[in-house]
Amino acid sequence: MTTPELDRQSAIIESGKAEAVQDLLDWLEEQGYTICETQTTRTDFCNGPGSSLGTTSCGMDGKLIRDITGRDGKRYYKGDTCPECHGTGEVTVDLTEPRYMPTFKTKQALMEDHFGIDPKKIEAERRALLAALRSQS
Ligand SMILES: [Zn+2]
Repeated sequence: MTTPELDRQSAIIESGKAEAVQDLLDWLEEQGYTICETQTTRTDFCNGPGSSLGTTSCGMDGKLIRDITGRDGKRYYKGDTCPECHGTGEVTVDLTEPRYMPTFKTKQALMEDHFGIDPKKIEAERRALLAALRSQS
């Protein structure tokens, strides 16, 4: 049987690259650094078209709660699907300053991402290899 993903993982480990990356990740953590994900947008509740500060025309369900003129100049009526959020009740807003959120990815997941290793393939190949070994004995 072939184990292409396990073979790739072994080659990366034997090259010493995995250890070097692991050392860097450990060092960063020891120094108190946190790896973050950069956010350039955020999700807000939709206020609907024609809304000003403190007013809203979009209900939480993405339907208009009053008659309103949209940005497109068209007239929309109470109960219509909101033309701003298209019925989701949420809009994506560009941030003027990026935000940094600590990543939830583990060091192992970061390593797998970096080296392009698929943990599901690794696990499947390990199981297949074990099954093949067991059937031989
Ligand atoms: Zn809306």
